[in-house]
Amino acid sequence: MTDRKIALITGGSRGIGLSTALRLAEAGCDIIINDICDAEKAQPALDKIKAKGVNAYFYSFDVSNDEQVQKNVDKMIADHGKIDVLINNAGITKDGLFVRMDADQWERVIKINLSSAYYVTHAVIKHMMKARSGSIVSMSSVVGVHGNAGQANYSASKAGLIGLTKTLAKEFGSRNIRVNAVAPGFIQTDMTKDLANTDDYMKFIPLKRMGTPEDVAEVVKFLALDATYVTGQVLEVSGGLII
Ligand code: NAP
Repeated sequence: MTDRKIALITGGSRGIGLSTALRLAEAGCDIIINDICDAEKAQPALDKIKAKGVNAYFYSFDVSNDEQVQKNVDKMIADHGKIDVLINNAGITKDGLFVRMDADQWERVIKINLSSAYYVTHAVIKHMMKARSGSIVSMSSVVGVHGNAGQANYSASKAGLIGLTKTLAKEFGSRNIRVNAVAPGFIQTDMTKDLANTDDYMKFIPLKRMGTPEDVAEVVKFLALDATYVTGQVLEVSGGLII
């Protein structure tokens, strides 16, 4: 077993997940990234993480499939002995006005963004309990706090992550496991690349720019590793956005 902390980041091969993996690697963690893509597609991300001087591993599975999650977390523990830090980051959008939102659109987003956090956390936390130590950060969103027209499914999933975060903080504090969430605003990634009228959003962002994945990663790293007396909190990373 390595002396370094091991961090698992779901959806870690690109976007905010990859930036978080790189930041935690800079802080000295060995890194496990998960993604639904195959190993070849994830290789550039692994190479970037390894260039920080730590070990990096990739496990391909769908976070919305409980069976796959359990099998892969078991394998991670068999391979590496522990998971010290869990970042529930994988997520998707399937936007549309509520009146036209079909059940599949609703359920897909809830399953990938929210049920996934139950599956992965449930599989990982028993090992953290045994170790009497652990830190979990889930990627919520400002729209999980404030709501957003056209994103009922996504907002509900991100609000659900906040409820999960606060509850797990209460249930697992006595085991020395901290559970927090980050709520990003508009961050430049593939998820937001097709957003129209981004100039309009600037009216509502005091810092007058979209965020970068690195802006978010810095806060995730703070909550995951440094904030040793912080649990059950939701930290907005939004340039001051008020919806
Ligand atoms: P992104 O660039 O679209 O990356 C999403 C990642 O999640 C990808 O690596 C993707 O894998 C992975 N993923 C999707 N479905 C998966 C599944 N079923 N199993 C495993 N991995 C899966 O998005 P991002 O902007 O970095 O967002 C990361 C997180 O931050 C998400 O939870 C998102 O909701 C949240 N967030 C983003 C923003 C923003 O403005 N960008 C704002 C607030 C919150 P593939 O590469 O295989 O597709």
